[in-house]
Amino acid sequence: KDSGELSGIIEDSCCDYETVNRINVAVLNPILQQLVKTSFFRYFKVKLWCDCPFWLDDGMCMLRDCSVCECPDNEFPESFKKPPHGSISSNPLICQRGDPQDTVDRTLATKTFRGWIAVDNPWTNDDETDNDEMTYVNLQLNPERYTGYTGASARRIWDAIYLDSSPKYSSGESCQEEKVLYKLISGLHSSISIHIAADYLLDVKTNQWGENLQLMYDRVLRYPDRVKNLYFTYLFVLRALTKASDYLQQAEYDSGDHAEDLEAQSLMQQLLENPELQDACPLPFDEAKLWQGKNGPELKQQIQKQFRNISSLMDCVGCEKCRLWGKLQVFGLGAALNILFSVDDMHNQGQPLQLHRNEVIALVNLLNKLSESIRIVNEKASSVERLMNGI
Ligand code: FAD
Repeated sequence: KDSGELSGIIEDSCCDYETVNRINVAVLNPILQQLVKTSFFRYFKVKLWCDCPFWLDDGMCMLRDCSVCECPDNEFPESFKKPPHGSISSNPLICQRGDPQDTVDRTLATKTFRGWIAVDNPWTNDDETDNDEMTYVNLQLNPERYTGYTGASARRIWDAIYLDSSPKYSSGESCQEEKVLYKLISGLHSSISIHIAADYLLDVKTNQWGENLQLMYDRVLRYPDRVKNLYFTYLFVLRALTKASDYLQQAEYDSGDHAEDLEAQSLMQQLLENPELQDACPLPFDEAKLWQGKNGPELKQQIQKQFRNISSLMDCVGCEKCRLWGKLQVFGLGAALNILFSVDDMHNQGQPLQLHRNEVIALVNLLNKLSESIRIVNEKASSVERLMNGI
């Protein structure tokens, strides 16, 4: 069996595939889809500069308007090269190849946020300090989809990410904690690939978009481990949200649009207090089993460092839209790691859980992306299998 149709108990979880699929489609996905459209959750603050700290040797990312110019000219269709309205090529801040699929739409409503404090997350490098480099992005105007970003630049980043997420700790056999980081990254990679395949530029001349089932199969569905890792990442992030439930339900969702903020609050409550979820999958991931060995604290520091490196690598992603979603999703994973693996420490020191506003936005949008991917895998698995078997 090489498709996404998996069954039985999901590794590291007390939930099974069938239940997760059912709850995802019936409950979680519809709520998340609405939640990410609300004013509070659709704006993400991000630094879109490409300040790549790696690969100084080729100079690609040393400059403000760096990167991906390394892509050979013949790699992209002609129509991609035309600048969109308002000519991005005149904007020195943009760090990309300059094709319309790449460019982040910066159109915003004039809403502001209030009432969220900033605390450092030891798992990520980003901070929320307001400065000229930070910009708000309306995520609804910038869907994660095919952009044409491929080749050596993309490959180099994935290779470096996997180098940082593979077991490093040299104490004999690799342990569960080390595998967690790898599975989280692999699950995120699967989700990104599913989104690329689900919203693909099928015909450049007619600008026809649609699903590319062959790509979905080639990149994800034919590898059961990649599909399993997608479920793992989904449940890991879901567990982080449920663990932070009290905090998230009491948080002030203030975007300046009262009606939408009330809706966000209500949807968050529906998501976290859902009786079906609590009954069928009460513990999506059991974080208490980790870091119990005598090297626990040392191991945690090592893995934290590896994850911070991965977070820095996002500054090297050479296509603006990919960088936006890469940063958001890695930031969301960092928030989940912080909630699951650092909050107990904080309690010991008498500090309650505190999250950046941006972390909460990233966490919810990440969960929505993973939930979408699970839904798509679940819906498409059998038709992809038929297609691949020529039936
Ligand atoms: P890649 O997806 O580049 O994979 C590279 C190698 O990683 C594979 O050959 C395989 O060995 C391994 N691999 C692949 N999947 C997994 C997995 N799930 N688990 C473990 N190992 C795996 N492109 C877009 O069109 N839109 C986007 O929004 C976008 N976002 C991106 C975000 C980031 C952070 C990065 C680094 C790249 C992004 N890209 C995006 C590019 C895209 O991910 C691919 O790199 C590109 O499409 C080329 O694909 P590929 O077939 O060479 O394989």
